[in-house]
Amino acid sequence: MGQMRQMRQMGQMRQMGQMGQMGQAFPSHNSHASHYSHSSLGPGPSCSILLFCMKFTPAKTPIQSLTLEELQSKFREMGQPAYRAGQVLEWLYAKRVKSFSEMTNLPAGLRGQLDAEFGFDLLEPVRKLGSDDTTQKFLFKLADGSLIEAVLIPASPALYGEGSDRRTLCVSSQVGCAYGCKFCASGLDGFSRNLHAGEIVAQFLKIEELSGERINNVVFMGMGEPLANYDNLLRAITILNSPWGIGLGARHMTLSTSGLAPMIRKLADQPLQVRLAISLHGATDAVRNQIMPVNRKFPLAELLDACAYYCERKTQRITLEFILIEGINDSLEQATTLGKIARRLDAKINCIPYNAVEGLAWVRPSLRRQDAFMNALERTGADATIRREKGHDIEAACGQLRLQVKREESA
Ligand code: SAH
Ligand code: SF4
Repeated sequence: MGQMRQMRQMGQMRQMGQMGQMGQAFPSHNSHASHYSHSSLGPGPSCSILLFCMKFTPAKTPIQSLTLEELQSKFREMGQPAYRAGQVLEWLYAKRVKSFSEMTNLPAGLRGQLDAEFGFDLLEPVRKLGSDDTTQKFLFKLADGSLIEAVLIPASPALYGEGSDRRTLCVSSQVGCAYGCKFCASGLDGFSRNLHAGEIVAQFLKIEELSGERINNVVFMGMGEPLANYDNLLRAITILNSPWGIGLGARHMTLSTSGLAPMIRKLADQPLQVRLAISLHGATDAVRNQIMPVNRKFPLAELLDACAYYCERKTQRITLEFILIEGINDSLEQATTLGKIARRLDAKINCIPYNAVEGLAWVRPSLRRQDAFMNALERTGADATIRREKGHDIEAACGQLRLQVKREESA
């Protein structure tokens, strides 16, 4: 992907990010929207996407996007007592009902009013893939026809060092991605739009419902760049974390970023103790530039400074993710430099053998090369693990199932 196109995409994404806030333009839930976002964009976003977003009237706000305070003030506006907000949230997150009509302690008229004003069922399951080690991948259709993925992983010991009873959900934060990392399926088809907070929260609710499992951890490592959808992301984290919402501890949430340095600093300044993972994938600018166009905007020195700032402000260690790609970033020199970076930040390193993506040329190094890399890392004294991908057989890396289904649809 050319640098010019990447810059264009980033500019568009910033504008889209501004429009994706609560109460502002949100693509209409109609079939034109679906057609437009899937067929007209080609391999990357075009200027027409901005017109598209402004042209359509905003759809109903998803009820799962609202915080307690917002619902309380909404009810006050409607001439209702503020305690109705607590009732609605209890139905949503404790009782997990699927419609306003089931909220039987609300007056019937109010249920009708809420139904007219707020969206409820946000995700339609389209396909599910399971693998032998019980990693399950879900493809959902959003109300505007866009496709997103979420993956339920039974255990992620390499990331968390916890027991195998932990279930981790990997959620998407955007439809597509504008950052175009060269190893990643999510960026291959460009960027469509930010997810609303409710669409992020709904991935959690829907997968607990479909799997019948309780989810213990959430990682923002699915499709999209979470820090490019900052406001919706923080809102979703608040809803997942709050006692009136899902009640999941902030330390059970990990946000992964390709390295938007200023946004890492912004995240460091807010009080939630979410964990941070950095998609590093290159230990020098020369190698990282080859893999991740974002590095030209926020080079390593700037990114690592922002990481150091995050570590200063928070009481937890960050994780550096490093996909091993043969002949690109798997040299012993890269291992040694990566080890030094991690030691300076007191960060953990999570190496992931590259998962081949159809249409992309790169390949996973042999086991022997992976081991040599890990040995070189260990010699630096860094705290490193290698994650032998769960769900390799179901194309679990982000964006791959969506890409496959979109290719099938257009064949
Ligand atoms: N945009 C964010 C979060 C989504 S991508 C970010 O870049 O961090 C999160 C992670 O998915 C990547 O860092 C990488 O660890 C993993 N990933 C994506 N494509 C992959 C592939 N082809 N093989 C292995 N891991 C992949
Ligand atoms: Fe986007 Fe992350 Fe994929 Fe890069 S790795 S293209 S930032 S989703």
